[in-house]
Amino acid sequence: MKKICVYCASSTGNDPAFGAAAQRLAEALVNHDLGLVYGGASVGIMGALANAVMQKGGEVTGIIPQALLRREIGNHHLTELQIVDSMHERKAAMADQADAFIALPGGMGTLEELFEILTWAQLGFHHKPVGLLNVNGYYDHLVAFLAHSVDKGLLKPEHRELLLVDDNADALLERFVDWKSPPLEAWLEASHQL
Ligand code: AMP
Repeated sequence: MKKICVYCASSTGNDPAFGAAAQRLAEALVNHDLGLVYGGASVGIMGALANAVMQKGGEVTGIIPQALLRREIGNHHLTELQIVDSMHERKAAMADQADAFIALPGGMGTLEELFEILTWAQLGFHHKPVGLLNVNGYYDHLVAFLAHSVDKGLLKPEHRELLLVDDNADALLERFVDWKSPPLEAWLEASHQL
């Protein structure tokens, strides 16, 4: 089974659309026969998503650092819960074990994870698709900021294209199927020749 890593909030937020989106993403993953890899917590949108995938008969791998096990209330009702030593080990394991990445609404932790995996793509360290589920416009300002960053010449348009943005989980997963990794190494070499 192929696996999708989902980054999302360890809190629930105050927009009911977030929980509904987690349910719809869970359904889409199970319908596409895709397993979930995530941060292993039982709280917030993270917990809602993992529990929904389990309830619908899907497979979930949680990966959580020992130090966060109590704070994020580790979810022991998963297909597998991996306990690791550090945040870095968690993020590396999530990246290695997944075939693609999605960010649902989240706070700084989610943003950090999303941008780390994007920068690893930008550098050609992996060739896996990355998507942003823009639930109820939550990420509109972020998408606008990325356009601003391109305008100001600090983000290359082709690197911006590494992030697929959609408001529909099924549509995003379909775009992953058609996705072809761009020639990142060639771009890097070209930029170093400038
Ligand atoms: P948040 O979106 O802030 O609710 O965080 C979502 C997830 O990101 C949680 O599982 C946190 O453990 C994780 N997280 C929070 N801060 C960081 C960080 N600095 N680096 C990596 N992951 C983080």
